[in-house]
Amino acid sequence: MAIDYSVKDGVAMIVWNMTSSPMNVLNDDSVPAFGEALKKAFSDADVKGIVITSSKPEFVAGADLKMILRNQGGDPAEMLKISAGLNELFRRIETNGKPVVAAINGTALGGGLEICLACHYRVALNNPKTKLGLPEVKVGLLPGAGGTQRLPRMIGMQAALPLILEGKELSPKDALGMGIVDAVAETREEMLEKAFSWIAANPKPLKPWDEINKKTGKIQAKDNYKVPNGAVLSPVGMQTFTVGTAMMMDKSKGNYPSTQHIMSCVYEGLLVNIDRGIAIEARHFVKVATSKEAGNLIRTMFLGLNEANKGASRPKDIAKTEVKKLGVLGAGMMGAGIAYVSALAGIEVILKDVSQEAAEKGKDYARSLLKKTVERGKFDALKAEGVLDLIKPTANADDLAGSELIIEAVFENRELKATVTQEAEPQLVNNGVFASNTSTLPITGLAKASANPANFIGIHFFSPVDKMMLVELIVGKETSDYALAVAIDYTRKIKKTPIVVNDSRGFYTSRCFGTYTSEGMELLKDGVNPVLIENAGKLAGMPVGPLAVSDEVALDLVYKIAGQAVKDGVLAETDTSYQIGKQFTEMGRLGKKAKAGFYEYPEGGQKHLWEGLAELFPVSTQQPTLEEVKTRLLYRQAIETVRCFEEGVIRTRLDADLGSILGWGFPPYAGGTLSFVDYVGISTFVSECDRLAETYGERFRPTPKLRAMAAAGEGFVEKK
Ligand code: NAD
Repeated sequence: MAIDYSVKDGVAMIVWNMTSSPMNVLNDDSVPAFGEALKKAFSDADVKGIVITSSKPEFVAGADLKMILRNQGGDPAEMLKISAGLNELFRRIETNGKPVVAAINGTALGGGLEICLACHYRVALNNPKTKLGLPEVKVGLLPGAGGTQRLPRMIGMQAALPLILEGKELSPKDALGMGIVDAVAETREEMLEKAFSWIAANPKPLKPWDEINKKTGKIQAKDNYKVPNGAVLSPVGMQTFTVGTAMMMDKSKGNYPSTQHIMSCVYEGLLVNIDRGIAIEARHFVKVATSKEAGNLIRTMFLGLNEANKGASRPKDIAKTEVKKLGVLGAGMMGAGIAYVSALAGIEVILKDVSQEAAEKGKDYARSLLKKTVERGKFDALKAEGVLDLIKPTANADDLAGSELIIEAVFENRELKATVTQEAEPQLVNNGVFASNTSTLPITGLAKASANPANFIGIHFFSPVDKMMLVELIVGKETSDYALAVAIDYTRKIKKTPIVVNDSRGFYTSRCFGTYTSEGMELLKDGVNPVLIENAGKLAGMPVGPLAVSDEVALDLVYKIAGQAVKDGVLAETDTSYQIGKQFTEMGRLGKKAKAGFYEYPEGGQKHLWEGLAELFPVSTQQPTLEEVKTRLLYRQAIETVRCFEEGVIRTRLDADLGSILGWGFPPYAGGTLSFVDYVGISTFVSECDRLAETYGERFRPTPKLRAMAAAGEGFVEKK
């Protein structure tokens, strides 16, 4: 059962209530049932109007993306048929002659909101948790059930484009302000009352883009409908289009592959009547829905992310745990951030540093972030005060008593970490867990200082902690499943995404991310123009060029980490990042923090590449193509991930992919560093790696196992 149908006082109630799926979604089950219910209401002479609503917390959460994945690689004509069926149904809502009202009781996203847009009137229940929006762009799709046609026709192109291009989600009140819903109600009764009275007052509604055919009396699309706030071909319309394209290219950095199609839908669609506009949209929808990029985004960033957030990597046979009291050692940049995100999740935090003053400074950081949240209207002052009260700064280790988890974020120094571990551990509850936020020191080694190494784990946050969604959990040789379960439960409680990796040098994220910066330096050494290097990184979909990000990391840190690897005999002294790290550290060009690195950071001015680079790394007369530079940057990260996977550093395809996208910004359209291999095709990947190895060095050489996989036609992505 997907849809309940009843008639009350001459009004048909079509109520979404899917039992086959946890949420109401558009899929093979619900769409036919919805169609049947509508047909029944259209054809029943006793029915004067129709209300569409849901008896679940959400209205309709969107289309079932698994359905799109299933159809990938299939016949595009099939997908066009599905899309045409849906569009015909929605168009019938508009043109059937009877009033249809969407009573939006909860979240309506994507196809869910498109149902509402097709209705004649929309009344939403005022609940701050309700989200209304068209987020399809985030999974490489576009609203394919009339969203790109109806929304701009309703509220104008200028207001509609950012919503469709960025997938922004609105509260009912905001949607009311923008004219996307017509009314807001405080209770379900009031919502239905408003729906019923609108139906009574509007027996023959007509959409502004439709007209009545004088001869047949039937509703049809109007050819000369004027879109609000300026017609498309007016100077304003043209300007919006141009500015929109530029803005989107900048914002998405090429990561949202459907944006160009969305622009075309809106621009071409508004030049014609709604029926033809919808046909244009359908054509573009099929193109994006069958694209590899959409498949990657759906698989990793939607379905995969949901799985990981639900604890896919959590050991199964351990009862749910909960951290109510957390100790954080070190109130510096990371400690303060960890305290803040934990307090936000309602956890009591003891924030310890060497002095009360230093600890208070950490709390001040949380205070400043909360102030901004209040200013932005996300929290009221009372709630912010409540969060802040949960953070208790101290210099006294005794205050940690009764913590279920303690995370240390003191300086990156083995001896210091050992000391704080031994000082704090006795304060844990029985079977409590101790974690290190180290970015470079192997967990198994650090656990030696612990009285209970089974309960010692790495919980590696990323900076800035409040913004970065990933947490890398590092399992040492002796770490127990129990400690991992505690860490995963805690990560989920603070609403971050966990990935699980085995202990190794640089763990997973730092090791593979390091190949991006390192390849940037190799390119520089090879005489490639630094402007080309930086642009290629960004055009490949990375958030920042490799040289700029090296500056952010700090070149003395690059030198220190590479230096340790040289000392440990795993890196040759001739290694490029070691050499360049050393050279720049000795020059005092440590990166952004020193206002000098590969870039110059003039006071009050724009950063720009340092002119001195030309002397240190003369630019060759023969420059590689943009594609070649992009290939080097992306393949290098992917081949290192393959090695991590084979070595067991990373355990699953999903953890590898999510870690690369959320951890260091590998392009989401490629699905992550392991999916990238399948994206380009495993045979192509192997032969390209061989070519790159011949030309630039053994670091690109494919592993024997990868060759065998390619020969057997296997891949990393699960086959449907
Ligand atoms: P930081 O220098 O900002 O802060 C370290 C804090 O530890 C200081 O406030 C210091 O007073 C305090 N401290 C020193 N000894 C202490 C003791 N005995 N007891 C309690 N507090 C003590 O450093 P950070 O950038 O926050 O890094 C902390 C840890 O997190 C390091 O291990 C680092 O490698 C790791 N990490 C850093 C980043 C990053 O981007 N900065 C990212 C991930 C992990």
